[in-house]
Amino acid sequence: MATAITNISSLVTNNPSLGRGPLGLIDDAAVVIDGDRIAWVGTTSKAPATDSHIDAGGRAVLPGFVDSHSHLVFAGDRTAEFNARMEGRAYSAGGIRTTVAATRAASDAELEATVARYVAEALRQGTTTMETKSGYGLTVEDEARALRIAARHTDEVTFLGAHIVAPEYADDPAGYVDLVTGPMLDACAPHARWVDVFCERGAFDGDQARTILTAGAARGLTPRVHANQLGPGPGVQLAVELGAASADHCTHLTDADVDALASGDTVATLLPGAEFSTRARYPDARRLLDAGATVALSTDCNPGSSFTSSMPFCIALAVRDMGMTPDEAVYAATAGGARALRRTDVGRVAEGARADLLLLDAPSHVHLAYRPGVPLASAVWRAGVKVA
Ligand SMILES: [Zn+2]
Repeated sequence: MATAITNISSLVTNNPSLGRGPLGLIDDAAVVIDGDRIAWVGTTSKAPATDSHIDAGGRAVLPGFVDSHSHLVFAGDRTAEFNARMEGRAYSAGGIRTTVAATRAASDAELEATVARYVAEALRQGTTTMETKSGYGLTVEDEARALRIAARHTDEVTFLGAHIVAPEYADDPAGYVDLVTGPMLDACAPHARWVDVFCERGAFDGDQARTILTAGAARGLTPRVHANQLGPGPGVQLAVELGAASADHCTHLTDADVDALASGDTVATLLPGAEFSTRARYPDARRLLDAGATVALSTDCNPGSSFTSSMPFCIALAVRDMGMTPDEAVYAATAGGARALRRTDVGRVAEGARADLLLLDAPSHVHLAYRPGVPLASAVWRAGVKVA
């Protein structure tokens, strides 16, 4: 059964051949959903007859958000750590150990409920594609468990056994790399699409990251890298060299890093919730865009350094503090995220794309930045099903 959504004041298609500007904006638009796909896109006056019909009432529609970076398989609470940071203590990668201990102690049912809760929370705000990672287990069994649970709630699952060196290997990081690239990878590769490394001081250096990403790639996992978040480092260059889908964070970049991102296929995924929640310097999106890099925006939803599932919040931060225009930020949160996940079926509104749509309680997508902190998601469709 086909359904037409008509009387859309402004439709973001992310396809310049369909409408105005880089967002391919269509005024007074209509979209026809047939099953789980988009069957037709155009102006309301030319919309074909359909079985059912929804009047958007002069409000805006855009593709569902594609959140390409989150850490939802966790247990425990880090409110006290956040509070301490806001009292002036610095953030380091070490706080991850707190979540590792709580996650190992949690039951499957508790972890499952947490993943389901935050995927649903994101969906209500318009996120229809969400990547999530392991990385709070750090044993063979706990990492494989995290991936199995994640895979029941998203089709974008990332093996992040190399989040930090497991506490048991604090004096033997080489031994931990052997574990990650050996038995842990054996157990985890069947449950994941991606392999990731936290390449940062206090986590894994460039040589260790290369070893782990290369081993993952040999098992069919495509690399993505936590790179250059807390300081300059080799992560971005390594990501581009290995053909990673994405280099995530990109907060501290040299000119050579920016050039590498601009010339390669690796997307620069920016996670402003992390800088917000650690009171750190924001990445310079303007510099990346002006150089010609592809930028994605993502929440980095995790209990330590960015406990938000809100893509609209990240869009508002990117516009206010990272030099992005509202158009660029909305593109990065939809089509940019799709690029970071190498998906062509999401992040755009066109015939044949998955019917993932967000109806805003606003006349334009610009309101996502213009009206920060306001719940603007009026309706959400995922694969043609109205889910919120
Ligand atoms: Zn992360």
